[in-house]
Amino acid sequence: MDTYRAEPLRRAAEDFDYDAVIAGAGAVGLACAAEISFFARVLVVETHERAGCGASSRNSEVLHAGLYYPINSMKAKCCVEGRRMIEHWASDGHIPLRNTGKFVVATEFSELDSLYALHETAQTLGVKTQLLDLREFNRLEPNVRAVAALWSPETSVFDSHALLRLQSARIQANGGDILFNANVEGVDVNRRGWSISVNDGAEQSSISARAFVNCAGLYADSLAEKCGVDVAALKLTQHWSKGNYYRAAGLPSSIVTHLIYPAPPKHAHTLGIHTVLDLQGELKFGPTSEYLKERNEDYSQPKRCPDSVREAVARYLPRANECEFVPDMSGIRAKLQGEQDDFRDFVILSTELGNSDGQIHLLGIDSPGLTASPAIGKHVAEIVKSILN
Ligand SMILES: Cc1cc2nc3c(=O)[nH]c(=O)nc-3n(C[C@H](O)[C@H](O)[C@H](O)COP(=O)(O)OP(=O)(O)OC[C@H]3O[C@@H](n4cnc5c(N)ncnc54)[C@H](O)[C@@H]3O)c2cc1C
Repeated sequence: MDTYRAEPLRRAAEDFDYDAVIAGAGAVGLACAAEISFFARVLVVETHERAGCGASSRNSEVLHAGLYYPINSMKAKCCVEGRRMIEHWASDGHIPLRNTGKFVVATEFSELDSLYALHETAQTLGVKTQLLDLREFNRLEPNVRAVAALWSPETSVFDSHALLRLQSARIQANGGDILFNANVEGVDVNRRGWSISVNDGAEQSSISARAFVNCAGLYADSLAEKCGVDVAALKLTQHWSKGNYYRAAGLPSSIVTHLIYPAPPKHAHTLGIHTVLDLQGELKFGPTSEYLKERNEDYSQPKRCPDSVREAVARYLPRANECEFVPDMSGIRAKLQGEQDDFRDFVILSTELGNSDGQIHLLGIDSPGLTASPAIGKHVAEIVKSILN
């Protein structure tokens, strides 16, 4: 098997190959493993040949300030805490980050309530926002059309790959292992723990551990089901929502100097088609939101950009109408919120079987999952600590 093995610093509890096995080397699985590796022996098992082949490398790379999520939700709490951790690593020079700030703009008076609601939530959460004087906004973003703008100085863009590298290095430094090109196929009860079936294409093996953490992203619900969780009864079936990004040929990147987001409509299941300035200062627009009828991990894009995308951008950036939008990249979200549903939070499910607890399943880790990942890792590590003690 193709193992990325560091010199073990500590042994797993007697009779077990590892203290904890984690399925999935996305931002969330690596964050969980990194935090657990400080007190226990961990193994991460990843289907692909490297880390971050799923949503963690197919997103806007926006470090969200944390203004969109209901007060007391896991999303709000983990977003703010995770953002602070990533800012700290960036200030230490581990992660390239550009503090662009962002404007959320209302283009119609009917959107003002939504902007005020965001401002109010942010104030309660201790996230900095400011309703900007329109003259000041027009001076800062002369090409953006708005009737009101909310300024979020704590929003940034950052290098998600650097975050994945940092988390992998933390795991390695603490003696943890990452096994690539291998799939977790299921989990059975072992004496006081779990027996995890791993298939690397050539052989099927069984790895024993006290705790199992499912961070399989799009496949987290199907893996949970294989582990005996009644996903449908618990209303934890994930919806796959595809998001495409586009570039506007001929539009100079200097047309905006901050991230621009539309005011979110009520009951929205995404933040809307926004303008992202990446670390290099290049512009892209997206992501769209299309709930997939069939689960097919297909990242191809339509050759032609739907008119609705350009129209959505042109509402706040009229010059978008003059440009041809060309496909860039795409990602697929793992969402608990169906098309007609209200807000759904991250779910971290710990299951118990007899007196042997220790399965943890992470479901619906959609946006702001990348920003929140370090905090989710800390939270899961606390659960694992209580299992091991
Ligand atoms: C279009 C889009 C835009 C987004 N924009 C942002 C943003 O700007 N800011 C932000 O904070 N968040 C954003 N998000 C959300 C964020 O990207 C995700 O929440 C986060 O990356 C989820 O990480 P993860 O580790 O849970 O999943 P993933 O990165 O998908 O990782 C899951 C891993 O599990 C592996 N796996 C699956 N099944 C198995 C198995 N059986 N055995 C072993 N391995 C397995 C997969 O190969 C994969 O590597 C966006 C998401 C999308 C799709």
